[in-house]
Amino acid sequence: MDDTIVSIATALGVGAISIIRVSGKDSISIVNKIFKGCNLENVPSHTIHYGHIINNSEIIDEVLVSIMKSPKTYTVEDVVEINCHGGIATTNKVLELLIQNGCRIAEPGEFTKRAFLNGRIDLVEAEAVSDLINSETELERKVAINGINGNLSNLIKELREKIIKIISNIEVNIDYPEYLDIYEVTIDDIKNNVPIIKEELKKIIDDYENTHILYQGINVAIVGRPNVGKSSLLNKLLDNEKAIVTNIPGTTRDIVEGTIIIDGIKINLIDTAGIRETEDIVEKIGVNKSIEAMNNANLILMVLNNNEELTEEDKELIKKCSKPTIFIINKNDLETKLNIEDFFDNIDKNNIISINTVDNKEIDKVKNKIKELFHFDKILNSDFTYITNLRQINEIKKSYNLLLELEKELDDNNELDMLEIDLKEIWNTLGLIIGESYEEELLDNLFKNFCVGK
Ligand code: GDP
Repeated sequence: MDDTIVSIATALGVGAISIIRVSGKDSISIVNKIFKGCNLENVPSHTIHYGHIINNSEIIDEVLVSIMKSPKTYTVEDVVEINCHGGIATTNKVLELLIQNGCRIAEPGEFTKRAFLNGRIDLVEAEAVSDLINSETELERKVAINGINGNLSNLIKELREKIIKIISNIEVNIDYPEYLDIYEVTIDDIKNNVPIIKEELKKIIDDYENTHILYQGINVAIVGRPNVGKSSLLNKLLDNEKAIVTNIPGTTRDIVEGTIIIDGIKINLIDTAGIRETEDIVEKIGVNKSIEAMNNANLILMVLNNNEELTEEDKELIKKCSKPTIFIINKNDLETKLNIEDFFDNIDKNNIISINTVDNKEIDKVKNKIKELFHFDKILNSDFTYITNLRQINEIKKSYNLLLELEKELDDNNELDMLEIDLKEIWNTLGLIIGESYEEELLDNLFKNFCVGK
């Protein structure tokens, strides 16, 4: 972390302004070498200065330079931000000059990594920065900003504090075994605190189970035999022409994917080739993919044609629907020939809807049914204070399971040194969430997903 890093912080392209960010102990002196205006080495922290970027005596750009001195900066190091005129040539030229004068190009997420390594933010907050930048929906944004505000981190720190106090008591017991009353107090302490910690973790796990769909989206497989209107339905949902619509059976041979956002929640749509037994090799690949899509789906949209009688093929397909399914009777603008009464005896009638893909309004029936089945109202009203990502929730679940084991241990055997080992493991696992302990590999993986310049 000795070197001074530089990166373009804004998206590279034509725009009014580009920001180039420099961080490290030499950032002010390096920028000063290519800046014509005041002497940046003598200005107070958190001030902005007008001047020019020069290459020898040639003027490259007219700029505003912000000077932010350590420690009150994003990375805790000296940071300089150059606001230059947007445009690829100018921005790249300023970047090139900074490199020639001693900066190194930053790796993705390196500014945030430095903020973490310098102790300004913890791992949960660092991940939340990335989540915030990548958030596509209003809900993802809300969750990310909660992470940056440190809600989860503070809770984890509090729980670790409780554990470390118990561990210190155990140490006292081990050092002074003659005081029996300390032993009693310590055992009681563990028995009182374990349920409290367990309950807090359980709440986070439950919140995650209810809302993790925010992150991955709901995978929806659209299935049905050829020509029932799957591609038309997908197109209506996507509101574009991604899938090929034709009336020759079997032409949607591959899986087409697209994502829509309903009330801030992502719906990943997968159109499948008509699932049916077939000798055609190309189509067979599509069929296998369709079955795979059904297996990976959280929801199946099983499309049937209102204008044809139910076929054996339809019945076979319906049997393959092993996930929550909405039965869509399509083409309700045409004469009804489908008699579903007998076959649908065992199916919740509430999950059958009749639509057509000609009238734009009909598609709302599908969207509303998805919202109802996945309890959007409940998700939207959830408490997002402690929502976590997959990495964090895995550590939380591990800690929770360790607490369950510790509880058993408490019933069977009250050897303090054994209990101490368990408590230390829980304390460490909780520490992994906020990055109190970490492996270099974890950091590399985590920060490489950041954009350059953050
Ligand atoms: P897929 O093979 O299941 O993907 O079916 P397509 O979406 O390719 O549709 C097959 C044919 O049915 C096309 O000619 C569509 O225009 C037509 N079609 C689809 N939906 C409807 C509908 O709701 N009403 C009518 N009348 N025709 C439809």
